[in-house]
Amino acid sequence: MTTDPAPGADLQQLVANARAGRVRAIARLISLVENNSPRLREAMSLMAPHTGHAHVVGLTGSPGVGKSTTVAALIAAFRRRGVRIGVLAVDPSSPFTGGAVLGDRVRMQNHSLDTGVYIRSMASRGHLGGLSTAAPQALRVFDTARFDVVLVETVGVGQSEVEIASTADTTLVLLAPGMGDGIQVAKAGILEIGDVFVINKADRDGVQNLQREIRGMIALDPQRGPQEWKPPIVRTVASAGEGIAELADQIEAHRAAQRLSGAWDRRRLARFRAEIEALALAEVRRRFLTGDRAVAADLAARVRDGRTDPFSAADLLLRNL
Ligand code: GDP
Repeated sequence: MTTDPAPGADLQQLVANARAGRVRAIARLISLVENNSPRLREAMSLMAPHTGHAHVVGLTGSPGVGKSTTVAALIAAFRRRGVRIGVLAVDPSSPFTGGAVLGDRVRMQNHSLDTGVYIRSMASRGHLGGLSTAAPQALRVFDTARFDVVLVETVGVGQSEVEIASTADTTLVLLAPGMGDGIQVAKAGILEIGDVFVINKADRDGVQNLQREIRGMIALDPQRGPQEWKPPIVRTVASAGEGIAELADQIEAHRAAQRLSGAWDRRRLARFRAEIEALALAEVRRRFLTGDRAVAADLAARVRDGRTDPFSAADLLLRNL
């Protein structure tokens, strides 16, 4: 595991090396994020001018649907197009699972000598602001390192998938026939976040039914007006590389359409706003928990004695932070 750079190590040099595509520098910068290093702030401020270029593509779907296989296939497809591609596998629960598996799978494809590919798994447990701030910061490192496309894969299920998808410019929702996915789509709120639906394992029975279900749900979604991007449904057999070129086409088409309509920028602004809020709230909480406990105790006593009301006490507390 990579650690923080030694004290005195030049962050500026580290950022410059990441800009030059040096893997060690990229790895170290992401470790700063992962470890919530005290030097993260400085690093982020050095990287800020170099960000805004990468197309962030989120990938979500139930375990076993074929996410890792699809990521590996997409890497190959994008590399054939000369696109530099990064992969961030975020595991909200454990630092040691999916990313490693994914890494192995891609290493089997002989990308390890290719500087146009970088794969990294990241744990986000205990990070300031949680998943919602750790992933975007890691993505800034990829962006700084001039990756054109960054795939974000979540390992595990639940709310975090939706959270991660909200950090993406384009969200792929993977489904497979025979997994009861139609129902899952409706339940998990995954329909709203899908920009491109992928029916993987299209070599299996039930593709038509699943496609009909997804189409029906897209048509019913009240949030999708006639001018909005209409999510395409792409059939893939990721394990055989089938349909992957079309998937890459649709990812690029979504970017082009969003840029044209202005939705691209609106979505990014909403994202950064949410990120700033999450950081600010986490900081308030941190200061509250590490600050002078006597202030809070004194305020509590005043509320108890009827000398002040809780709203005024909260105001005072905020002013004292
Ligand atoms: P993940 O858990 O979503 O990352 O799923 P994996 O990529 O690990 O895939 C789960 C299993 O499905 C693996 O055994 C893959 O080889 C297999 N698989 C992936 N894509 C396809 C496909 O298109 N068709 C079939 N039949 N199997 C697939």
